[in-house]
Amino acid sequence: MELPYSEPYRIKATEAIRTSTRQEREEWIRQARYNLFKLDSDKVFIDLLTDSGTGSMSDNQWAAIMTGDESYAGASSYRKLETIIRSLFGMPYFLPTHQGRAAENVIFSALLKEGDIVPGNSHFDTTKGHIEFRRCSAPDCTIDEAADTQKELPFKGEMDLEKLEQVFKSHPREKIPCTVLTITNNTAGGQPVSMRNIRQTAELCRRYNIPLLIDSARFAENAYFIKTREQGYADKSIKEIVREIYSYADIMTISAKKDGVVNMGGFTAMRDKELFTKAMSYAIMFEGYITYGGMSGRDMNALAVGLDENTEFEQLDARIRQVKLLADLLDEYGVPYQRPAGGHAIFLDAKKILPAVPREEFIAQTLGIELYIEAGIRGVEIGSILADRDPVTRENRYPALELLRLAIPRRLYTDNHIRVVAAAVRNIYERRDSITSGYEIEFEAPILRHFTVELKKVQR
Ligand SMILES: *Cc1c(COP(=O)(O)O)cnc(C)c1O
Repeated sequence: MELPYSEPYRIKATEAIRTSTRQEREEWIRQARYNLFKLDSDKVFIDLLTDSGTGSMSDNQWAAIMTGDESYAGASSYRKLETIIRSLFGMPYFLPTHQGRAAENVIFSALLKEGDIVPGNSHFDTTKGHIEFRRCSAPDCTIDEAADTQKELPFKGEMDLEKLEQVFKSHPREKIPCTVLTITNNTAGGQPVSMRNIRQTAELCRRYNIPLLIDSARFAENAYFIKTREQGYADKSIKEIVREIYSYADIMTISAKKDGVVNMGGFTAMRDKELFTKAMSYAIMFEGYITYGGMSGRDMNALAVGLDENTEFEQLDARIRQVKLLADLLDEYGVPYQRPAGGHAIFLDAKKILPAVPREEFIAQTLGIELYIEAGIRGVEIGSILADRDPVTRENRYPALELLRLAIPRRLYTDNHIRVVAAAVRNIYERRDSITSGYEIEFEAPILRHFTVELKKVQR
């Protein structure tokens, strides 16, 4: 008999999670005004709100925490991080920051001026925020197929080179300070980008003399997909693939809370000394002195170990398998989700799961509340509450898709937890015809309403 798969680690410390009854959860979610962000974590059984900063560190990362060097300048922890960044990404200069958006703040302060254009493949929301905050624009050049939820493509997060070249052709070179390539493409559902597309994007940028910035939150998961899906990479190690990816890049920003497997941290790195010198002043103003930026020494140590460990095939294989396990179970139960499964999350197709709920009553949010009440599972709505109101008409915007994202933290839950999630979703799907009403808004903030919105049940 062929031996079944099992994880390449065992568990040294456990953290108890509180179980609860349906009746308790009904009361708690009512008290939270039907907003999952307002629930205290001890009222959640399986928390799939995000995979950012929520992973489990390894024993070696915890050990590295004890040997962190908290010197203000020239800490050994900074040198350890520098060594792994140079060997993995080949970038000679870097600046630590407290998380990914801080890295964006530092580098875009040095790079962008009002009126600039920064094209990309579905910019992440903080990235877009930092671009638009500087009165610049962020045209989206993602391939059209990314918007088709049922289309199966191995690399569904790619840059459309024709769209990108069109942006390059229609603006003077000085107006485009860089192109942003996000791997994996978070906004398009954690979908990967092939090495071929990374190389071709870089070649196009080079032809127009525009630097390529890689937004790198899930770079290791992207490298895993290249190894397992792209011809010519099966025999290469993840580290070799990562080195090749970054040989095409001029600048990187990273939220280390994802593939760095730390709870907080990030950095920006670059090849150009002049750009580094410029960015350095902003890093010192916004984050901290250059050899710690926004991070403590112990956190830089843990990140150095995390980057090394999480660029090994076995670690990534365990993670992607777990995401795929959830997808496979949903397939078995016939529950619709955005296909194919991405690297870090499953996006449930709420319109198909709850066909009887009117869109004015927030379909994906209704599904999120049902899933919480069913089993204490917390996902996050990516639908019309998040889409907010039109800034001019103040009418609610209804996006084409109503999704409930279930993000899977790294090494935090076992496959048994995943089975509970799949079964809970199945139970809701089976009684979908009995769920005919949703929620209405009682309070909302003028911007970013999803974090603080208060809802009440629609009574019919
Ligand atoms: C998370 C993320 C960011 C922002 O990072 P934070 O650490 O949350 O500030 C930027 N880009 C992508 C692709 C991300 O996933």
